[in-house]
Amino acid sequence: SQKSVYNFNAGPSALPREVLEKAQKELVDFKNSGMSIMEMSHRSAAYEEVHNQAIQRLRSLFAIPENYEVLLLQGGASLQFAMIPMNFLTSGKKAGYIMSGAWSDKALKEGKTIGDVFEAASTKETNYNRVPSLADIQFDDKDAYVHITSNNTIFGTQFQEFPDTGDVPLIADMSSDILSRPIDVSKFGMIYAGAQKNLGPSGVTVAIIRKDLLENANVEIPAILKYSTHSTNNSLYNTPPSFGIYMLGEVLGWMEQQGGLEQIAKNNEAKATLIYDVIDESNGFYTGHAEKDSRSLMNITFRLADEQLEKQFLQEAKEAGFVGLNGHRSVGGCRASAYNAVPFAACQALQQFMLNFQAKNQ
Ligand code: PMP
Repeated sequence: SQKSVYNFNAGPSALPREVLEKAQKELVDFKNSGMSIMEMSHRSAAYEEVHNQAIQRLRSLFAIPENYEVLLLQGGASLQFAMIPMNFLTSGKKAGYIMSGAWSDKALKEGKTIGDVFEAASTKETNYNRVPSLADIQFDDKDAYVHITSNNTIFGTQFQEFPDTGDVPLIADMSSDILSRPIDVSKFGMIYAGAQKNLGPSGVTVAIIRKDLLENANVEIPAILKYSTHSTNNSLYNTPPSFGIYMLGEVLGWMEQQGGLEQIAKNNEAKATLIYDVIDESNGFYTGHAEKDSRSLMNITFRLADEQLEKQFLQEAKEAGFVGLNGHRSVGGCRASAYNAVPFAACQALQQFMLNFQAKNQ
């Protein structure tokens, strides 16, 4: 029998149980082919069906307009930090980065190695406890793009609204909240995300790019780093991470069965509310890192009175079967990541554990 745990990992993170079980059933003999999907040619008809289904499901769940390409890449979101400026930061132009956490910072630093980048806004001064106000975002209408991190995995903040950047493409790192809620894709020039939080296992990166941006991208870069190489080849320019893409397609199928993004957003709101309510009603026993109107529904960050009590909390949580509740190594404290596949019951269990821990220790 399986060890029973509540998985609150920040990424890689929980996958839907049903998907894992289906993958297990299909693992050795995929659809009567006599082999696993991992053993097939990526040029075979059977694999191509899996590949195209994943792309099609992404298009339909996220309501991606026709004038966008959907690419399945490798290298994680971190490779996108480099590919974005390589492709789109044409010479003589600048790119603005909205600084809302450690990942925006990494994106900006990579951009700096390629071209002229600047901070379009920042909440670093208050230790990223909120996202910048849309009114504070500064950029010029000649800029190559504006980059935003929609959800800040480490600090636990999330944009509820996005800036209107007019003709300047808005490029969003949605690694930690993609497909957690409906989004108007047409407001963005590009959206990208590593799969390992809401979409599937690590090793696949989704990039959704408006077609006209591809046409005007830099050409003086290696083929493998050009988005147009991957779009021309339907993300089959070289061997794709085929098993990861199979899993992606299955997770997306599961999301369809959940009722799509409207329903998933409601579930996520209900799950996060369970935990935030405990924090808010704890009379300061638990303190949230994020300001209320910047709170993330994906990553719930909080502290206890002192490090000793935090250590005790994390130790007892571990013994009770909760996994992944320690904050990112750079900030400490506690963090519960409640991505799409984390069950409501897991959040209820955490709520109860937090209430009990407070009752025993205050
Ligand atoms: N951006 C965000 C918002 C993230 O949370 C992460 C990973 N935690 C990354 C980028 C980096 O992703 P990867 O490890 O896929 O390169």
